[in-house]
Amino acid sequence: MTSPMSGQIGDHPQRRCGSCTACCDGWLQIEVRGHVVSRGKPCPFSTGHDCTIYEERPEDPCQKFKCGWLIARSPLPEWMRPDQAGMILLPAQLRWNELGVDVAVAVGEAPKTKALTWLKAFCETYRRPLLYQVGTVWHAFGPEAFQLEMRAAMARGETIW
Ligand code: SF4
Ligand code: SF4
Repeated sequence: MTSPMSGQIGDHPQRRCGSCTACCDGWLQIEVRGHVVSRGKPCPFSTGHDCTIYEERPEDPCQKFKCGWLIARSPLPEWMRPDQAGMILLPAQLRWNELGVDVAVAVGEAPKTKALTWLKAFCETYRRPLLYQVGTVWHAFGPEAFQLEMRAAMARGETIW
């Protein structure tokens, strides 16, 4: 099976963030010019629809970050832009049994049902284990052994991502 996040599927070289600021608004934990951005604490330079220091935004993390929807040749459909899908997909953030594990960070309380359904079907087709977030709780989807391992790690209080 072709690896879908390696640029083999989809063809969206011209995608732009547009009015999406999901990665600036605290759903991802980042640090920008000394400001810790985390759930409930958006970047102070985000207006909620654009960046007030866009031209001078830092290289790391701002300029170099591309979510799974924005990357060239993303397999995610147009309607799954993070602010509309309720999730930021981060492809292959960790490895499990030689497989890349995708991570879907919730934008808001939880991913939209349609988006999560699409993503699960995609991950099943391409054998990509998935971690997705509902509220502050992580859920594992994929092979049973992966689910069991992730649940056990969480039960031990380990941070799985
Ligand atoms: S989450 Fe993705 S599409 Fe949205 S602003 Fe960030 S990089 Fe752009
Ligand atoms: S500086 Fe701009 S691009 Fe960087 S996180 Fe803040 S709002 Fe987003």
